[in-house]
Amino acid sequence: MEASRQYDVIIIGTGAGGGTLAYKLAPSGKRILLLERGDYVPREKDNWDSRPVNVEGKYQTKEMWRDKDGKDLHPHTNYNVGGNTKFYGSALFRLRKEDFGEIKHAGGISPAWPITYEDLEPYYTEAESLYHVHGLRGEDPTDPGCRSPYPYPAVSHEPRMQQLNDDFARQGLKPFHVPLGIMLDENNSRTSKCIRCNTCDGYPCLVNAKSDAQVCCVDPALAHPNVSILTNAQVVRLEANGSGREVTKVILDRGGVVEEYSANVVVVSCGAINSAALLLRSASDRHPRGLANSSDTVGRHYMGHVNSVLMAISKCPNPTVFQKTLALNDFYFGSKDWDFPMGHISFVGKFDGVTLSAGAPPIAPGWTLDLMAKHSIDFWLTSEDLPDPDNRVALDRDGKIVLSYKPNNEEGHQRLIAKLKSLMQQQTRCPEHGHECHQGLFARNLFVGQRIPLAGVAHQNGTIRFGNDPKTSALDANCKAHDLDNLYVVDGSFFPSSGAVNPALTIMANALRVGYRILERLQ
Ligand SMILES: Cc1cc2nc3c(=O)[nH]c(=O)nc-3n(C[C@H](O)[C@H](O)[C@H](O)COP(=O)(O)OP(=O)(O)OC[C@H]3O[C@@H](n4cnc5c(N)ncnc54)[C@H](O)[C@@H]3O)c2cc1C
Ligand code: SF4
Repeated sequence: MEASRQYDVIIIGTGAGGGTLAYKLAPSGKRILLLERGDYVPREKDNWDSRPVNVEGKYQTKEMWRDKDGKDLHPHTNYNVGGNTKFYGSALFRLRKEDFGEIKHAGGISPAWPITYEDLEPYYTEAESLYHVHGLRGEDPTDPGCRSPYPYPAVSHEPRMQQLNDDFARQGLKPFHVPLGIMLDENNSRTSKCIRCNTCDGYPCLVNAKSDAQVCCVDPALAHPNVSILTNAQVVRLEANGSGREVTKVILDRGGVVEEYSANVVVVSCGAINSAALLLRSASDRHPRGLANSSDTVGRHYMGHVNSVLMAISKCPNPTVFQKTLALNDFYFGSKDWDFPMGHISFVGKFDGVTLSAGAPPIAPGWTLDLMAKHSIDFWLTSEDLPDPDNRVALDRDGKIVLSYKPNNEEGHQRLIAKLKSLMQQQTRCPEHGHECHQGLFARNLFVGQRIPLAGVAHQNGTIRFGNDPKTSALDANCKAHDLDNLYVVDGSFFPSSGAVNPALTIMANALRVGYRILERLQ
């Protein structure tokens, strides 16, 4: 192979995992190549327009997968520099301390991780600094604990959210400010990069003020002369040497042209579904079930959280511009009347009528979509789904992704919805209508039906689990493949269980942790 195609490290995928790792390794001076199947998200007015973004899916992949019955499945995911963080809501949570141990759920066991919260804690702190997280330590009743404050103050609630916060607090709950990765300076609006707009969660940030992996990590990494990137470069196969212990070829497709690269260390970070698919596609005589898959766990234990979007409609309008500031974790581990975990209550970005038309909810009598959007408070509920080996990524005969998923652990989620309904009925703080202001709670599936369906793979994780036992996990505790000496995985696929808070900060923190191990190795 030409010397120009040989690197110290190749990182495949530039999202939360790959982008963060690139940032960590860049100052080492080692030759590092980033391979990204997508391009840069163009900066254009459409970035902040709900029709192209939410109705036309302009920035989503057009790729089709299949479900377990062989039906077409259009995944709502994004292939571009920065990965899905270009579109995320940047709610950057640490997992709870307990999430690292075994937890009994109504639907089964959430297994322990091979590392503890304390092992990951310093890297959470580092990731919060890198991704400009704003928050207030200690407000969240399940806060896992950290000695240092958040790098930036919490993002303030707008009046309607403050009213809701006060109503929740009056009911004896502990509402708190969502830890957010946005570059907002509320004391200095003239110079603040972030303008606190209504098109953040689900949209790319036109002014690069969202703490996404491209802005915070990939761009700074590329400022180092030893780091380079190939975009529109889809890795299609990894090949191992004769012993099967080392990846020697990274084979990619660039617009129909096949190219080969090699590196001393190869890191896969394509997102949990695509990383599993890549390893499965890389099967060979030495690795007949797929690369790094002697345990037969690659692709299995797919998790994506049990998620619902619910719109609470009030008589009074909700003029909130940036809604994603408030959250509740009071029911995360259960409640007085239910001993099992239920999950996390938070918010999505404020809906408009155009966005609602993309997956119209049942319209409340006497309301239009526009009116509903103006009067709704838009909740996001997350509960933990459990790792079932039959919930999995596989390939069909043409190498296309097949995603099989049977929902599990749903009772806690239904109970969480019931809790929220009851809380909303007890709202009293509206000065005009008192508790009669609240008109009802409506399922607003971003697509169709009651819950986020299979195509909603935003929180995908778990398909290449890490663990101490090579028989039951594909990666060791440092996220190196048990079966190979130079292959690592740093996206969301390493999770053995998923907790019920958003996954990105844990992926970023872990990528930093693995980055230190790789740096030690390179030096
Ligand atoms: C609308 C939306 C809102 C979200 N909001 C939040 C939130 O508020 N908080 C939170 O914590 N999480 C949120 N998430 C989830 C979060 O974005 C993901 O958890 C995170 O980005 C996953 O990181 P990753 O590194 O595993 O994968 P990704 O970020 O998806 O990165 C994978 C990268 O690999 C590339 N790739 C894939 N296959 C190949 C290949 N074969 N060759 C080369 N490159 C490849 C992809 O193009 C992509 O750039 C949200 C997601 C979405 C879609
Ligand atoms: S709220 Fe701030 S970070 Fe989010 S899209 Fe608007 S300007 Fe960008």
